[in-house]
Amino acid sequence: MDLSRLVGNAPLKRQLALETARRGLSHAYIVSGPAGSGKRTLAGLLSAALVCTGGGEAPCFACAGCRKALAGIHPDVVHAGAEGDELNVARIRAIRNDAYIKPNEAPRKVYVLEGAQNMKEPSQNALLKLLEDGPAYAAFLLLTENAAALLSTVRSRCEVLSLSPVTVQEAEQYLTARYPDRTPAEITAAAARCEGILGRAVDQLEGKGGDTRALEGAARLLEGLCSRDELAILEFCAGLERDKWDRDALSALLDEFLLLIRDCLVCAAGALHESDPNRRALARQGAKALSPKVLTGAAALTEQLRTACGFYVGPGHLAGWLGAGLAKLLG
Ligand SMILES: [Zn+2]
Repeated sequence: MDLSRLVGNAPLKRQLALETARRGLSHAYIVSGPAGSGKRTLAGLLSAALVCTGGGEAPCFACAGCRKALAGIHPDVVHAGAEGDELNVARIRAIRNDAYIKPNEAPRKVYVLEGAQNMKEPSQNALLKLLEDGPAYAAFLLLTENAAALLSTVRSRCEVLSLSPVTVQEAEQYLTARYPDRTPAEITAAAARCEGILGRAVDQLEGKGGDTRALEGAARLLEGLCSRDELAILEFCAGLERDKWDRDALSALLDEFLLLIRDCLVCAAGALHESDPNRRALARQGAKALSPKVLTGAAALTEQLRTACGFYVGPGHLAGWLGAGLAKLLG
């Protein structure tokens, strides 16, 4: 199976190559990884392979099936679960009804379900029935930031494909090819900052990564810690709930905060290579004011919250958890 368009992820590519050589493509995959890690790229390649009519190695990238699938216009590749399209029980039932209508032109019919971790238990159970006894030509790709948020019964019906972060070299190579007009310094900085998640590097180079609200919020949390101002931290976190920060916004805030904390730790070790003067100043401030124990505690808490973000934990609850956890570190 030609997966060369997916950057890095050698173990996953080996896993898929072995399994497809042995028994062909599966009828159900869980494609798991953080936002920006390549879930849609991989789902696109799997969809193309499932509807490929080239006859040789799939996807062939040349037949009408592959081309339409990769352009997102194949009539037998159905996308569901994007924003505003909740995967509730009614939606899963509609998918089930649709699945019993034979494919238009491909040998298979493919359902790409995004944000599968947001499915509540009744939806997952409805989907389980479809995975168990849907028509043989139907295939399902469940895209999720967190495979553990799916019922074990659903997981056991699927092959789990976990995307891993790419290396800095892989990121640089990919970004250089995709953005030939950018300077090497810009490419290197984006590759270094993305932590192996290419989507983040792309966002940064396209000017979307500078989520100023997230960075400002992360700076305020760090400043609250540095001045040991428990009240300021709790007030800021209560504000997150009041201003209705959603899961994506909170997730961006946690990412920025974790980057700042790591910069502080690196700075404390005397090896900071941050080019942004604002971030460099914050890292210096944190390294000076905070003990390694508080910094590693804050990093652990933030990582825990990022994981919880992938589960069905409400944003208000996450904000409260963040405030209480940071306040406790100062206690
Ligand atoms: Zn093809």
